[in-house]
Amino acid sequence: MMEKGLLVVVSGFSGAGKGTIMRRLMERYDGYALSISATTRAPRPGECSGREYFFVDKDCFEEMIDRDELVEYAKYVDHYYGTPRAFVEEKREEGKDVILEIEIQGALKIKQKFPDAILVFLTPPSAEELRRRLIGRGTEELSAVHRRLMRAVAEADGVEAYDYILVNEDIDTCTENLHNLIRASHDRASAHLDIIECIRKDLRRIENAAANLS
Ligand code: 5GP
Repeated sequence: MMEKGLLVVVSGFSGAGKGTIMRRLMERYDGYALSISATTRAPRPGECSGREYFFVDKDCFEEMIDRDELVEYAKYVDHYYGTPRAFVEEKREEGKDVILEIEIQGALKIKQKFPDAILVFLTPPSAEELRRRLIGRGTEELSAVHRRLMRAVAEADGVEAYDYILVNEDIDTCTENLHNLIRASHDRASAHLDIIECIRKDLRRIENAAANLS
């Protein structure tokens, strides 16, 4: 029987390099599917609907909530963001590990609903580096950068709930580390308890048969 894919949540400070690492992970390795979220925020230059996000209006987003079409959703800096359910379920059934690049409120909801999900938090090595990267991106007004920095401060509060924290000092190393920890997670005890249970039953049967013979 094919093993169902894992649910992997990747969060991190805005500017931690999540987008680049996700792209690298998809390019380098097979077996992953990156979920595309729905959002009510406007596309940034170069973004298009169906690739970075499904850009929808507020009414449309609220209909998706009402129809229970989202695995989780959250409000982040005045906009809705949510994970469409159908893609996640379909890809996991195909045995793909589904990556959700989402913020902390959504991550915690995922952990509640799917206790086996793996939560990874990406961080740059320092606050100064984070600030530099956010300003360097140059796609946003300074006031928006400021709001993101303030939000980052709040986000660090929930980080204890995560299973792993990866420090992004180098994109390639960080991508490889992420891949390795996802691979290793396939062998977590909880994923193989059924095998151990089978072996136990068989051992008891063998022992009983031997006892009956003697
Ligand atoms: P951005 O506007 O920079 O693309 O994303 C803002 C934040 O929303 C990021 O932290 C991103 O990870 C998060 N985000 C993107 N999609 C989702 C989603 O479907 N659900 C939740 N909860 N957060 C999301």
